[in-house]
Amino acid sequence: MRPPICDFCHRDSRDHPEVEFSLVSFQNRERLEQPGHPEGLLWFCRDHLERARALSHLDSHEALQRMREEG
Ligand SMILES: [Zn+2]
Repeated sequence: MRPPICDFCHRDSRDHPEVEFSLVSFQNRERLEQPGHPEGLLWFCRDHLERARALSHLDSHEALQRMREEG
């Protein structure tokens, strides 16, 4: 399991202990697995968590792309 680092803004929980981080499970969660941390299971800081959860019906790379397009 990776340490909590937001997959959108790359804020690291170890540098920001005051910020909450949560995992979001995307649709590609079960298809591909990497040693140690499952594909499709991403960390987000509280600023990006709500948006990520709203896109969790997508694959993780599609969700991240949409978030970047929307800023
Ligand atoms: Zn973030």
